[in-house]
Amino acid sequence: MNIRKNDTVLVISGKDKGKKGKVRYAFPKEKRLVVEGANMIKRHTRARAMTRQAGIIEREAPLHISKVMLICNKCNRPARVSFRLLEEKRVRVCSSCHEVID
Ligand SMILES: [Zn+2]
Repeated sequence: MNIRKNDTVLVISGKDKGKKGKVRYAFPKEKRLVVEGANMIKRHTRARAMTRQAGIIEREAPLHISKVMLICNKCNRPARVSFRLLEEKRVRVCSSCHEVID
């Protein structure tokens, strides 16, 4: 997976197209990500002793990785990621500014 937790991504398709947010969770197996403020779904809940809050709760649903693009933390542009070996570690490289992202 070329996107990880705490990366900033741009949503490129769906109803939240154009939104930017931080990756809260990454699920590499499913190739899905939970992005802060993106793909909100409404959940109807009943009051329980645990939650206390009844009614509608909004939360983020996971997005498929193909629906987002990584925003490079060096040039601040949506970037394609390539990989390079650096001191025997696989690092991500921004295709637009050629800087190492992590
Ligand atoms: Zn860059």
